[in-house]
Amino acid sequence: MIIIMLGAQGTGKGTVAGILSKETGIPQVSTGDIFRKNISDKTELGIKANEYISSGNLVPDEITVPMVQDRLTWDDAKNGVILDGFPRTIEQAEKLDEMLNKMGKKVDLVVNLVTPRDEIIDRMVTRRICSNKDCKASYNIKLDPPKVEGICDKCGSPLKQREDDSDPEAINRRLEIYEEKTSPLVKYYEDKGVLRTEKVSISINRMGADVAKDLLEIIKK
Ligand code: AMP
Repeated sequence: MIIIMLGAQGTGKGTVAGILSKETGIPQVSTGDIFRKNISDKTELGIKANEYISSGNLVPDEITVPMVQDRLTWDDAKNGVILDGFPRTIEQAEKLDEMLNKMGKKVDLVVNLVTPRDEIIDRMVTRRICSNKDCKASYNIKLDPPKVEGICDKCGSPLKQREDDSDPEAINRRLEIYEEKTSPLVKYYEDKGVLRTEKVSISINRMGADVAKDLLEIIKK
């Protein structure tokens, strides 16, 4: 099953994808996580990608698309993947369709998470991630804090703020790019009949975990 998580930054794509992955065994493929691991490992790909990521811009397709293409051929992806952060443009979606077509696969479900803008900004500012590059656990110091302040529950490493979450200019740039380049994907997938829109907001007491629970019932049918 090929599932895509769509939604602006801070809507909980990673949280929902993580729960779905744990419960179904389908791997979560987060392009942002792959980039961050490469940045912390100081690989050539990481150094190149960081030039774009730190300022809130998209990493060019010449880097991103082959990286995803390669990931789709891994053994653990033979029964599908949960894509978190890819595609982010119509061009990437078309390239993904081509890749999947060649593999005899298709996009089965696109989950579009929608959250009010003021909540999104608040969640980006209050997000903390584990500094252990192999752990990648994510917390929210207001809504989902770790048991011990500043320390990862899973591996005990210190938590840190993502560089692009601590820079107001990078936050605005990412939201602008989402509106301009990524939001047209909603119609793209709606037209294909695979879109499911889910509101995630504290105002209706519906968070990522609630969405994941409902989605699991659909997926497991
Ligand atoms: P994320 O963790 O999904 O918020 O991604 C963090 C950053 O990685 C984004 O702001 C982009 O700079 C870069 N990135 C992640 N996925 C993509 C993608 N599909 N295309 C281009 N850049 C990406």
